[in-house]
Amino acid sequence: MRLMGAMTPHNSIVGAIEAGGTKFICAVGDGPGAGLRERVQLATGDDPARLMREVVAWFSAQREKHGPLAAMGVASFGPVDLDERSRTHGFITTTPKPGWQNADILGPLRRAFPGVPLGFDTDVNGAALGEARWGAARGLEDFIYITIGTGIGGGGMARGRLLHGLVHPEMGHMGLPRVEGDDFEGACPFHGRCWEGLCSGPAIARRAGMPAESLPPGHPAWAITIRTIAHALVNLTCVLSPRRIILGGSVRKAGRLGEAAFFEKLRADFREILAGYIVSPALTEGGIAGFIVPPQLGDDAGVCGAIALAQAAKEISAP
Ligand code: ZN
Repeated sequence: MRLMGAMTPHNSIVGAIEAGGTKFICAVGDGPGAGLRERVQLATGDDPARLMREVVAWFSAQREKHGPLAAMGVASFGPVDLDERSRTHGFITTTPKPGWQNADILGPLRRAFPGVPLGFDTDVNGAALGEARWGAARGLEDFIYITIGTGIGGGGMARGRLLHGLVHPEMGHMGLPRVEGDDFEGACPFHGRCWEGLCSGPAIARRAGMPAESLPPGHPAWAITIRTIAHALVNLTCVLSPRRIILGGSVRKAGRLGEAAFFEKLRADFREILAGYIVSPALTEGGIAGFIVPPQLGDDAGVCGAIALAQAAKEISAP
């Protein structure tokens, strides 16, 4: 029996929002699997104010059913403003997504649920926290979480703390060497041939003239894409020295090529490019399968990450 439970009006159920460029997943719960009590998926669309009204209405209905929410967490596509002293804290900032430049995500939640602690971070830092708590990064203090889907983002932890700094990491926009046979001009509206401009789902589709999931396994776009991703993972390994790289998002499922073949080729390319320079059992032929891995929470990594952000916010706000 917990005295605190009797004295405080709230339970352990938190609200979670995985704010993606294509869909928003809203959920209430306290963990992965059966811990996700309710969820709904809303199309992101091009009208943030209208979508946030739908989000608020859904959580208000959940509150009737499950009681007051102990906290809320938002794991958002970005770039986002994470500076709590900033006038635009909780906003999406410079996204090329139509309608979403300078969109206020946290404001509508603050106004609708006053006093409820709010956790807010990038989708990838959220997913990293979820994987640290319940998934492929349990027990690790230094790791990276990457998503490759509509865009490319990266987050993670160093010494057990989520990666933040000037703003937040933008791993998807690093420049990369041109892979042999690649003459694609790149798809990033800011940088052309950055990692996202070369390897996001839309970039693969533009390069190949068909969606990634329809590409035959032998299509040269797969070899070029995987080789380019391997270069990026080598760069990240050299810069951050992670103990594991978790690679989520839809592109890793690799359509007709298949997820297993995708990871096998990626790991082999990674080792070839690194050329034995960094010495660790994790990077050997026998160890690499445990170094570059898919998320253990699968497609729930993002929404579970938002739950973890909410739980972290609650601890910080506790008296
Ligand atoms: Zn870019």
